[in-house]
Amino acid sequence: MLAALLRAPLDLQAKRIPSFALEPDQVMIQVVACGICGSDLRYYHGENPWALHTLGKPLPNPPNIVLGHEFAGTVSGNTISPLRGKRVAVLCFKTCGRCDQCRSGRENLCKNTMHLGHGAGWGKRRYYPGGMAEQCPAWEHLCFAIPDHMSFDEAALLDVVGVGVHAARVAAVAPGASVAVYGAGPIGNAIMQASKAMGASKVFVVDTYDVALEIARLCGATGAVKADSTDAAQSLREVNRGNFQVVFDTVGTAETLRNCIGLLAEGGTAVLMAVHDLEFAVNSLDLGSERSLRTSCNFRIEEYPLSIALVSSGQIDVRPWITHRFPLKKVSEAFETAFHKEENGAFKIMIYPDS
Ligand SMILES: [Zn+2]
Ligand SMILES: [Zn+2]
Repeated sequence: MLAALLRAPLDLQAKRIPSFALEPDQVMIQVVACGICGSDLRYYHGENPWALHTLGKPLPNPPNIVLGHEFAGTVSGNTISPLRGKRVAVLCFKTCGRCDQCRSGRENLCKNTMHLGHGAGWGKRRYYPGGMAEQCPAWEHLCFAIPDHMSFDEAALLDVVGVGVHAARVAAVAPGASVAVYGAGPIGNAIMQASKAMGASKVFVVDTYDVALEIARLCGATGAVKADSTDAAQSLREVNRGNFQVVFDTVGTAETLRNCIGLLAEGGTAVLMAVHDLEFAVNSLDLGSERSLRTSCNFRIEEYPLSIALVSSGQIDVRPWITHRFPLKKVSEAFETAFHKEENGAFKIMIYPDS
């Protein structure tokens, strides 16, 4: 079958590889749509974002990963399963169910996670499965039948929605809250919409990229502030008297983090979405009055069906995200487009194995 194979850092090709064998708890998915995630670009460059976020340390990637963890498709007709032939969204990671984190409802932090489209958790293999392929094995109990009116594109992007929903829950966004989001890429956009769905009355986004700001407006942002022409933090302070109960940082530089903490109301929470090897200085006074700084990692299993409900009901709309579509055989071109997103006006790029 054809698959987008990351053979080594900087070496990504659409290549024919053998189909994967199914484990007893798996079904085979005929992939229809798969999104390119920001983390796929980091894998391409040899980083391992899963390890950074879940284990809190860098780890090397094995060779021959099939990339792709934002995908949906149909369950293959050869499978014995009640889901046979069904259109499904695929939750792309399986946790161990036995560790302290799994047993305390924090399975998103399980160190023994097997993750499609990432090298983690599989032991040593010739190839590691992922969604940018004609077929991908997935765990039957983690495949969710989608309603007829939900497209495969929307279903593929539920992974991103899940990250946004989890972040909004980590921050305990409450009805009536004012929220700001630094970085209005797909994750920032998902956080913005999830915060609104959880009752936030105002949600502002900040970005340097006009396309992201425009898409945020289309998706219901209260305001979208351009970061490079103005002092964005100052504009936000004026617009909302600096009174944000929750501020999310999806950018993760020392400067954005300082700005986010500086916007917090008393008792407010800043959530850092992108951790990497960075030291930063914070004046502890800025965290006075019970302000807190947290991180958010992936999402919990129950937040995936919740994401399906939010997209299905129209409370979260991912359709405006998609700017580019490529057949799987042109995956290198798709990644090139993603690397030069500002020249290309790209926001979310989708890959289709069957075209
Ligand atoms: Zn992702
Ligand atoms: Zn576990």
